[in-house]
Order: sequence, then structure tokens, then C-alpha cells
Amino acid sequence: MSPSPARLCVLLGDQLDDASPLLSRGPDAGTVLWLAEVRAESTHVWSSKVRTTLFLSAMRHFRDRLRQRGWTVIYRQLDEADNQGSLGAELARTLAQLRPRQVALVQPGDFRVLRELEATCQAAQVPLQIHPDPHFLCPREVFHAHVGGRKQLRMEFFYREMRRREKVLLTPEGEPEGGAWNFDEENRASFGREGPGAVPAPRRFLPDALTREVIALVEAQFPGHPGQLEAFDWPVSAEEAELALADFIAHRLPLFGRYQDALWQGEPWLYHSRLAAAMNLKLLSPRRVIQAAEAAYRQGQVPLAAAEGFIRQILGWREYVRGIYWEFMPEYAEKNALQATEALPPFYWTGEVPMACLRDALGQTLRHGYAHHIQRLMVTGLYSLLLGVRPQAVHEWYLAVYVDAVEWVELPNTLGMSQYADGGLLASKPYIASGKYLQRMSNHCAHCPYDPARATGSGACPFTTLYWDFILRHDALLRGNPRLGMQVRNADRLSPAERSRIQEQAQRLRASGGIPPTVPSDTLF
Ligand code: FAD
Ligand code: SF4
Repeated sequence: MSPSPARLCVLLGDQLDDASPLLSRGPDAGTVLWLAEVRAESTHVWSSKVRTTLFLSAMRHFRDRLRQRGWTVIYRQLDEADNQGSLGAELARTLAQLRPRQVALVQPGDFRVLRELEATCQAAQVPLQIHPDPHFLCPREVFHAHVGGRKQLRMEFFYREMRRREKVLLTPEGEPEGGAWNFDEENRASFGREGPGAVPAPRRFLPDALTREVIALVEAQFPGHPGQLEAFDWPVSAEEAELALADFIAHRLPLFGRYQDALWQGEPWLYHSRLAAAMNLKLLSPRRVIQAAEAAYRQGQVPLAAAEGFIRQILGWREYVRGIYWEFMPEYAEKNALQATEALPPFYWTGEVPMACLRDALGQTLRHGYAHHIQRLMVTGLYSLLLGVRPQAVHEWYLAVYVDAVEWVELPNTLGMSQYADGGLLASKPYIASGKYLQRMSNHCAHCPYDPARATGSGACPFTTLYWDFILRHDALLRGNPRLGMQVRNADRLSPAERSRIQEQAQRLRASGGIPPTVPSDTLF
């Protein structure tokens, strides 16, 4: 290795991208690649063991791949005795040792990391060149132009622009395939009484020697962190991610749209893809995923509604939330439009809670580092929204526990979509519902000691109590939103006595950490 390379290329744990612009020239004598495992990335939020394991294992697999391809790689392991513990400190040391003429970096996925690396290079007086990230389909300046002078941002309009821009699911005349931009009326069914039947199990990727080494490291270094590693089976390389994609397209995409919003006790995956983590680490390109889904439709393997519903999540939502993040950071992270101040209930970190829907979502979150979108939005997210938890505490939890959690995607989803903390910038209404919604979309209520139809009394469903309480607390805000008119009008029918009982019961729930103080006797845990 040259003692003073022309270029030090920093690759972050979520930039394990074969197509990175930093790798496009191929290995050359003047370039050194740099990756570092550091403690701070697992402790700035209380990162789950599953999430940390996935990141470190994927990084080590990528390191070996780069070395096999002839790159010079400096790789700092977490357990090296002199590891400085933070990206900034580790980079500062390498800069002092190597004195490169330039540091190159692809736009990070986290504002905090960008600031830290900028400050480090500035202090070391080494120029930092930041490249746009071609992994994403919507460059930041294109999103900025989309925001333009619009009073209101809506994903649907952005998505249509992206369909046209990327020529996805269009007819030869440039119109939306099937004559509509979305087919939601064919999607979003529940499983009904019969249940989901035999859902095709997703392909698993059992830990190889490298991953087992990381599992041992994580257990030793982060023993008190949340999460369990016994069931770890996430793809950790580009090859495994490709196999996971093929498995999803062949077996679960056909019913993805239809059951996108359904929940079922003990079924963590249903028809979801499990591809977010691989995409967010850049093991898998979103273009590749979208092309595969469109090809499956064009070859008659999946209905249009399924392909479109799936593509919308990636070409629409994924790009849209990233645009929002970079457009509105750093102020976005501090938003709290509903002025929510409650602490996050401790049971979010343990899963020990009598409410069946929460217990199921939290249990699988800790076991797999995964919950599907409706569990995140309409179970864990809904409950903290209704309780009035400070959105920044909710954000820290989501960033900590999911394998696919990187701030650019997690923060707008949590603060904007789920907690309405941005006051409606990202979503057109707060996503609120009572226990009856969960009863309709899942079988959880049949396994629960509470009654989704009851808002008060000892067997009342806490979601239902807090739902009415939320409407009463935020009456002025909700009354002004045409999408919530019916819910507000229903609350208008509550008698003064019913309102008081609901509000008192909600207060008792808050005082007892979100769990009803008296649990009916047939509680299951
Ligand atoms: P599928 O259901 O199979 O969906 C396909 C793909 O679409 C996903 O892999 C993902 O890349 C994309 N997608 C779907 N919905 C969204 C969305 N709302 N925003 C961005 N991309 C989307 N997603 C993350 O990738 N990381 C997060 O940290 C994250 N945090 C979330 C927090 C909250 C409160 C909520 C409500 C949603 C969050 N999401 C996050 C979005 C979504 O829930 C996950 O992308 C999805 O559950 C991942 O599972 P999957 O790969 O099986 O997705
Ligand atoms: Fe969840 Fe309420 Fe249904 Fe219990 S009754 S599973 S708490 S929605």
C-alpha cells in the first residue's frame, strides 16, 4: 500500500453497493477503501442485536468480496483493542496515518453521519468529495424541483411522475398500464375467518461461518441490547439478496397486493418481500427489484394489481420518504406537531404486554428485527400515537429495532406517516383507528383478553379507549381534515358522561405505562 494514497474512499455500513461510484474505476494503486465497525453506530440508539448483526455480517462479506476483486481495503473491526468507537474518531486516525490527498464518500443515509465525517475531514484539512447516490431513482435535485412551490406534498402525484420518468408499467403510448395508476380497490383484503392457509415460507439464509463469528461478537459486545439471534436468517450478500428476490417474485408477489394490509397471529411474513434490509444496505438495487416485478407481470406470472401495488412501495414511497428526509433535515427530526410528551412504554423493548396484537408485533420484532408495514403503522405506531408518546422517542425505537432501519427511511415514516409529527407534510391525515380496525384486519382480538368494541370498563380494548380519547383531545385539528370527518362526527355522538369515562380511562392507561392497570384474568402471558 502506498503510504500516501491519492484517494481514501469511505464506504459506510449501508453502502455495500457493487455499483457504487467509488468503485467504478476498478482497483488502482492510488485508491484505498475504508470501512469501520464502530460501537457508536450500535449505541446512539439502543440497536437490536439482530440489526447490528446484519450490518456487521454484510460489511464483512463485502470486505472479503472487495479484497478478492483486488481492492486495498482498510477494515476496522469492532473488537480491535484500539478501536476508537466512532466513525469520526476512526477516520481521523486513518487520515493522520495515511495523509490521503482526498477523501471520497457517497451521500450517506444519515444526516448525523454526514456532519460527523465532514467535520472530521475539515479538522484534518483533507478535501472531502461527496458523490450523489445513484442507487436511488430520484436525484435530490429532482425531488427538490418536485417540492417547488407546492403547498401540499402527496406521494401519489410524486409516484405518477416517477412512473413516467422511469417508464415503469406504461403502455407504448405512455399511459398507465391497465388504465389506472393504482389498483387499491383490488388490494388490501383481510384473510377472513378461514385465515391465510399455507403461506409460502420465505427462503432463509442460515448463518455461515462469518455470520456466526459476528453473532458471537455481538452477543459478547452488546449483551444487554434488545433482540434475539437464534432465528437470524437475513441475506448478507448480493448473491443471497438476489435469491431472496427470486423467491419473493415466484412465491409471494402474486398475492402481495391483495393481502398487503392483513395481519395474522404468529405469521410474521405473510406475502411481504423481506427485501427492505437488502435494498437499504445496497446489496440489491431497487431498479433490479422493480424490473423483476414488472417482468413477472408482463410474462403473465402475477396480476397487474400485485405488481403495481409492490412497485408503488419502492418507486413511490421509498423514493418519496428519502426526498422528504433530505429536503427537510435537520429541522424535520425535531417536529412534534401534536405536542406529544409521554415516554415510550418499556414493554416496547421486551414485548411483555397482555394486548395480543402488540405482543405479536413486538415479539417478532425482537426475534427477527422485522414487522411488516401494517404492524409498524397500525399496531406499534398507532399505539404510541394514541398514547401521545414523544415522537422522537418513537423514532429512536424504530431506528433501533428493525433490520432495515436507516434514518433516511425510518425517520419520515415514523415522524411523518406514523406519528403525524410533521403536521401533515408527508401524510394527508393521522393514521388513527380503534381496536375494531384490528379486529377486521387480523385474528388478534380472538386471542386477546380485551374487547375491541369496548372503550371503557375493565375489559375495554386500550386501542379503542385511546382512539376516542385522541379524537376528543385533537378535535380542532381533526375537524379541519375532510378525510376524518366521519370519525369526528361519530365522536360528536358521545354523551358528556361517555366522554368523561373515556378520558379518565385513557388517563389511567397513561399513568400505568400503556397497560391497563387491571388485566382480565384470562391473560395469556
Ligand atoms: P414489503 O411490504 O415487501 O414492501 C416492499 C418494499 O417497499 C419494502 O422492501 C420497502 O423497500 C418499500 N416500502 C414499503 N413501504 C415503504 C415506506 N412506507 N417507506 C419506504 N419504503 C417502503 N422501511 C424501511 O426500509 N426502513 C425503516 O426503518 C422503516 N421504518 C418504518 C417505520 C414506520 C413507523 C413505518 C410505518 C414504516 C417503516 N418502514 C421502513 C416502511 C415499511 O414498513 C418497510 O419498508 C417494510 O415493512 C419492510 O418490509 P418488506 O421488505 O417485507 O416490505
Ligand atoms: Fe389489540 Fe384491542 Fe384486539 Fe386486543 S382487543 S388484539 S388490544 S385491538
